Amino acid sequence: MASVKCPSCARDFVRRIARAGWLEAILSMFYVYPFKCQLCGHRFRSLRWGVRYSRVREDRRQYQRMERKLPVTFSGEGLTGDGTLLNISMGGCGFATGSALAIGNVVRLVLQISGELPPVIIDAALVRSTRKGGAGVEFIQWQESERERLQLFVRGLLIGHGTDIDTAKHVA
Ligand SMILES: [Zn+2]
Repeated sequence: MASVKCPSCARDFVRRIARAGWLEAILSMFYVYPFKCQLCGHRFRSLRWGVRYSRVREDRRQYQRMERKLPVTFSGEGLTGDGTLLNISMGGCGFATGSALAIGNVVRLVLQISGELPPVIIDAALVRSTRKGGAGVEFIQWQESERERLQLFVRGLLIGHGTDIDTAKHVA
């Protein structure tokens, strides 16, 4: 079975995402499904003839979050802190921290992706969720060069993750 390729960046790290609206519900009867590129963020529909996705797999998340523990620091809005990255995608990340972040905070985030390379810097990350000892942020502003460097890193995680990105069953 050929894998689905992103029509925007031509790479095949795409994720089947939840259908939006009645049109996509109807299209799915004809094996046309919505996908989201995990690297460039492009959303598109693709014909997957004879393929039925089980409803269980219809995750609401647009990006699959990869688990990876790395040092992270952040600053902004009068607070600075550090923590440990827990999961990451091109859309955002979650990390553990002792600092009190609040939903709506915007911080500059520094991700130490490796011991040898300079860290990846996200100029603006919006705090979307908080829980005791941790927070989830969405990446909203970063330099193109940093985005590309994180793409390389996430791509490595996706490869290591195996075939879970586009999981589907053929209807016999
Ligand atoms: Zn793409």
